Amino acid sequence: MRLERLLKSERMKKDTERFKDLLSNPFETFAKADEIRKRDVGEIVTYVVNRNINFTDICVGNCKFCSFRNRRRYLLTLEEIKEKVKEALDYGCTEVCIQGALYPNADLNFYKSIIEAVRDVSEEIHIHAFSPMEIHHMAKNSGLEIKEVLKELKTAGLNSIPGTSAEILDDEIRRIICPNKINTRQWIEIILTAHRLGIPSTSTMMFGHVEGWEHRIRHILIIREIQKKTNGFTEFIPLPFMHRNNELGKMVVPSSGFEDLLVIAISRIILHPYIKNVQASWVKLGVKLSQVALNVGANDLGGTLMEENISKFAGATGGEFLPKEEMVKIIKAVGRIPKQRSTLYEILD
Ligand code: SF4
Repeated sequence: MRLERLLKSERMKKDTERFKDLLSNPFETFAKADEIRKRDVGEIVTYVVNRNINFTDICVGNCKFCSFRNRRRYLLTLEEIKEKVKEALDYGCTEVCIQGALYPNADLNFYKSIIEAVRDVSEEIHIHAFSPMEIHHMAKNSGLEIKEVLKELKTAGLNSIPGTSAEILDDEIRRIICPNKINTRQWIEIILTAHRLGIPSTSTMMFGHVEGWEHRIRHILIIREIQKKTNGFTEFIPLPFMHRNNELGKMVVPSSGFEDLLVIAISRIILHPYIKNVQASWVKLGVKLSQVALNVGANDLGGTLMEENISKFAGATGGEFLPKEEMVKIIKAVGRIPKQRSTLYEILD
């Protein structure tokens, strides 16, 4: 069945209703998620040693949840990007995660030059770069098809893409929180195209604003259906909305820590057995809540990051650098086994 038809199907409706039952007894849901996590991945908790590079905050977009756009109005030069990659290598990073705002008129060559700059410094480092929204932006500005753009990026050295800009995959919600962003169908199409070209991605969901549980569950079901088709997602990352310094934050009450945990638990249950890795984002949740999340379905803590601009401006207090040694301590403190991983979840130590 085609994905679009499936999204409107009776099965989707029934699954949404069925998984809503998990809300009636949260503590049972936590226990169930923890049990499934044990079966899926055992006691290992992974992390990746990586560096974030947000190359510009100059943006033509107008997402209402954004605290990052046009704040400093900077654009890193290719030399500055290279310097950051060198520092990342010196620290032992295996990945650079590169994302930026939607720089006016930026075309494929603009984005390719970033990849080439990284490759000038290192042939080996994993380049995890450019959200589906950025891919749409460069395709539009170059007058090219998505497929063409992705192929060229891959040839230039791109290894995987972040599954960000998914927010909530529901067009009614998207019209409220990010009216100029790609819609649900476009996000799915870009991800499917990437996966089919052998470019894996993460998957994300930004929750805790104007959506309800039904939207969250449907979003996770969409991720599950894509994964059944492509097996191209490496992980799922639920991201609570950060409400400071943005328009949307003034309109809504942020999610509670308890709710954040319930989203993680429900994600683990719905995505089983298709996606085995559910991340607790320490940047958004903070270290202590992330440790609790490891007991209700999560098995990954994400990256060391080294710098983090997007959540910081939106009020995240988790910090922007979590050294490897800290990751290990945090994981051991909850009685689990820390392991460094690659972007694609190969165990490295
Ligand atoms: S979320 Fe990204 S695309 Fe949207 S306004 Fe912010 S920087 Fe621009």
